[in-house]
Amino acid sequence: MKVLEGVERTQTINVKNYVNLIIGKVEKLNPNEPEFLQAVKEVFDSLVPVLVKNPIYMKQAVLEKIVEPERMISFIVPWVDSYDNTRVNRGFRVQFNSAIGPYKGGLRFHPSVNASIIKFLGFQQIFKNSLTKQPIGAGSGGSDFDPKGKSDLEIMRFCKSFMAELSRHIGPYKDVPAGDIGVGEKEIGYLFNEYKKIRGTYEATVLSVKAVGYGGSFGRKKATGYGIVYFVEEMLKDKRLSFNKSTVIVSGSGNVAIYAMEKAIGLGAKVVACSDSTGYIYDSNGVNLETIKQLKERDNKSISDYVNEHPDALFIEGCSGIWSIPCDIALPCATHNEINRNVASLLIANEVKAIGEGANMPSNLDAINLFLRNNVLFAPFKATNAGGVSVSALEMAQKSKRLIWTKEEVDSKLQEIMKDIYQTSMKASQKYGAPGNLVVGANIAGFVRVADAMITHKVINSDISID
Ligand code: NAP
Repeated sequence: MKVLEGVERTQTINVKNYVNLIIGKVEKLNPNEPEFLQAVKEVFDSLVPVLVKNPIYMKQAVLEKIVEPERMISFIVPWVDSYDNTRVNRGFRVQFNSAIGPYKGGLRFHPSVNASIIKFLGFQQIFKNSLTKQPIGAGSGGSDFDPKGKSDLEIMRFCKSFMAELSRHIGPYKDVPAGDIGVGEKEIGYLFNEYKKIRGTYEATVLSVKAVGYGGSFGRKKATGYGIVYFVEEMLKDKRLSFNKSTVIVSGSGNVAIYAMEKAIGLGAKVVACSDSTGYIYDSNGVNLETIKQLKERDNKSISDYVNEHPDALFIEGCSGIWSIPCDIALPCATHNEINRNVASLLIANEVKAIGEGANMPSNLDAINLFLRNNVLFAPFKATNAGGVSVSALEMAQKSKRLIWTKEEVDSKLQEIMKDIYQTSMKASQKYGAPGNLVVGANIAGFVRVADAMITHKVINSDISID
C-alpha cells in the first residue's frame, strides 16, 4: 500500500512538472496577454489529477493543442460617425476549439477589448460549453468599439461594417456568435440584418440572443442571470442553506446582473447593493429592481440616478467598495478580475457564506484559493454562467426544427441543465480527489469531454497509426 502511494506521489510530481512546463511554453508564446495566461493557468493547475489517471492526454499532447486557437482572426472596422468623420476600430474573432461542435461564444464591444481578452473568453468557453453537454464548440470575438455615448445610427453603422468582414468567417455549421458586454438584442439585430443581406438567405441559427419576434428564444435574455441563481441554489441546498432570507450583493447592473437579481429576489433574497462602471448603490430596504431596469435597460443612465427616486439609498463613486458591505451571498456579475485577494479577505471577514461567479473570471487565482481555504462555498463562472450559452444552443435547436418553445418549457430545460452541471461538477470533484471543490470539478468535467473527442479525431497526418 505504502509503495503504491509513493508511486502515485511520484506520478503526481511528474505531471505537475509537465503542466508547469506547458504553462511556461504558453507564457513564452503569448507575452503581454495576462488575461489569457490567467485563464489557462486556472484550468491547467486543476487538471493534474485527471492527467495522472489518464496519461494518454499527455501522450496525445491534448494540453498543447487545446491551448492553441484553431484560428485567430483580426480585422479593421472602419465606419463613419454622425459628423461625417471616418473612425477606425479593431475587430476580432477567435475560433478556439471545434472538437464537439461549431464554434460558439459571445461578441464583446468595449474599449478594453484586445487579443488577450478575446483569447481568455474563447479559451474558457471550451470548458463551459462542454459542461452544458450540448454540441457546441468554443469561440469569442468583439471589438474595442465603445457603444457608450454613440447614437443608434452610429452603432448600426459600426455593426454593418463589423459584419461585412465577420460574415465570411461565421455560419450555422461553422461559428455561431452571441452577445456579451456591449452587445445585446439591439446590436444582434443590426448584425443579423447585415448578415442576411450579404448572404441573401435567412439563416436563423447564425447568431443567438436574437429578439423573440424574429427567431430568438423565449428566456434567452434572462437565462444567464437565472442560471447563476439556479446553480448557486443547488450548491446552497447541499449545505441546508438557500437564497430565502439571505442578504445578497450583486456587482454590475447589465444583462447578467439584472436577471440574477430578479431570480434571487424571487427566491426570497434581499439584494441590498448593485453597481455600474461609475459606482454602486446601497439600499438597506432592498434594491428596487424596476428602477434599475428603467435606468439601465431603457434610459441608458448612470446608476447614481437611483437615489433620486429612493432618497434613503446611498450612491458611492468607485466600484470596488461594494464588497465592503456585509452579505451572505456575493454574486460578481460585472467583469473580469473584480475580486482580488484584498476583496476576498474583506468578504471573508464579513462572514460571506457563498460566492456565485456571474461574470467571466471575476475572481483572480489568489482570491479563489483564499475562499476555498476558508471554506466559503464557491461556484465558478464556467459552471454558473453556462445558462446563457445553453439557452443559445436551445435557440439553435428550435430554429433548426422551426419550433417555438414556451417560456415555461425553456425555463424548465434551463433548470435541468443547471442542476446537471452542478451534479456533474460535484461528481468530478469527488472522483478526482477534491470533493466539493467545484473549480476542479467543473474544469475536469469540461476538459474530459473535449479531450476525448480530440483524441478520437487524432491529428491530420495520413501516415499516423491509429491504435
Ligand atoms: P452588460 O449588459 O454590458 O453589463 C455589464 C455591466 O457591468 C454594466 O452595468 C457595466 O456598467 C458594469 N461594469 C463594467 N465594468 C464594471 C466595473 N469595473 N465595476 C462595476 N460594474 C462594471 O454585460 P453582461 O452581458 O451583463 O456581462 C457581464 C459579465 O457576464 C461579463 O463578464 C460577460 O462576459 C459575462 N457573461 C455574459 C453572458 C450573457 O449572456 N450576457 C453570458 C456569460 C457570461 P455600465 O452600465 O456603466 O457600463
